[in-house]
Amino acid sequence: MIWNHNKECMSRDQMHDLQGKRLQKLVKKVYHSTPFYRRKMQEMDLTPGDIRTIEDIVKLPFTTKQDLRDNYPYGMFAVPNSEIVRIHASSGTTGNPTIVGYTRNDLEIWQECMARCLAAYGLTSNDVFSISYGYGLFTGGLGAHYGAEFLGATVIPASTGNTEKHVKLIRDLGITGIASTPSYALYLAEVIEKMGIDVGELKLRTGVFGAEPWTENMRREIESRLHINAYNVYGLSEIMGPGVAYECKCKNGSHIAEDHFYPEIISPETLENLPAGQKGELVFTTLTKEGMPLLRYRTKDLCSIMEGECPCGRTNVRISRIMGRSDDMLIIRGINVFPSQVESVILDMPEFEPHYQLIVDRVNNLDTLQVLVEVRKEYLSDEISRMLALKKRLADKLKSVLTVGADVKLVEPNTIARSDGKSKRVIDKRKID
Ligand code: ADP
Ligand code: ZN
Repeated sequence: MIWNHNKECMSRDQMHDLQGKRLQKLVKKVYHSTPFYRRKMQEMDLTPGDIRTIEDIVKLPFTTKQDLRDNYPYGMFAVPNSEIVRIHASSGTTGNPTIVGYTRNDLEIWQECMARCLAAYGLTSNDVFSISYGYGLFTGGLGAHYGAEFLGATVIPASTGNTEKHVKLIRDLGITGIASTPSYALYLAEVIEKMGIDVGELKLRTGVFGAEPWTENMRREIESRLHINAYNVYGLSEIMGPGVAYECKCKNGSHIAEDHFYPEIISPETLENLPAGQKGELVFTTLTKEGMPLLRYRTKDLCSIMEGECPCGRTNVRISRIMGRSDDMLIIRGINVFPSQVESVILDMPEFEPHYQLIVDRVNNLDTLQVLVEVRKEYLSDEISRMLALKKRLADKLKSVLTVGADVKLVEPNTIARSDGKSKRVIDKRKID
């Protein structure tokens, strides 16, 4: 179902027009209320009058995570604190957390975007929906929660932790939909199996997964283990939280709530805009945000804008899956490696559980990459030659995809730590002194 036909299916001309008008207003606003942006624009010899259409956006300065840290805690806010009704913080995956503030209007837009997303997956007021993103400063829990309530679903604020109790609720309350990280979904599947519950008897049918990168192979794995449809939701606290972009039933790219968040893809090296289809860094301008509006925020997330119309009827542009963040990218002996490439290879082979870890080190001035992966119980063998052959097969596949050799270490099921939030796939010992 399309929640907001008017805003999700506009003609491209109408959308550009709306975006242009909103951008003009936004630039005026930040110029007068955020000293940080006024200074930046003055340095570039720009005044709000220079921004007339959405195409003028390229004249504006970028904003980085460092800017947010330098202006911690309230420096980027564009309204007095009396108008701020909620504060969240980024989860701090890559450093100190950054603080974000929302006005009442910002929260209303957020719940609307989240409802668009849940409706796109086919969820309705008839669904019983549990939220297993963490509640707290992290935007996942409350963001999904208010969206699901706005949709009218029956919301269960399960949060993370105590997964057995959650499974019992899924069974007893007939929970039909769940929101969590993809890692948590896998963990949930394991706990259901361990508790001896037949997944087929549960009513669960829709999963709303995001907050960390995951691959198509991981989607297949989650769908077959939990007997559900698994959909991708994307967001980040600096821009809003979950619901910035969401898949539709086509499962082919995520539509951006473009009337609120204007996307650009830039080359992280030259900072030039890249055309549709080319992979680069995703940049967002918050067109309607009041509390902490941002101009051209560099997300560090790598993806591309997809070309062509989507058969679902939405006209809002789509982004491809996030391949990872530029700071997740490992450089091993000069070659770029993303954990998602390793995930794709491992999940393509039936012998492995979808649990893996990359350990990077430097030995005698040479980078080393070790890949730990769990072998499924039915493929474990006491015959060393069989295990060695399996190890070699994986090492060969990794080499052909990554173009850099990896030392494979096979481990038994349940050896690698599970996560109910964002999983930690990489241990880079080069960074630990
Ligand atoms: P932090 O940057 O501290 O992790 P957030 O909790 O706001 O802060 O997380 C936002 C980040 O999570 C995004 O910038 C992106 O890297 C990642 N992310 C969120 N949703 C997805 C998704 N569906 N696919 C891939 N990565 C995602
Ligand atoms: Zn679509």
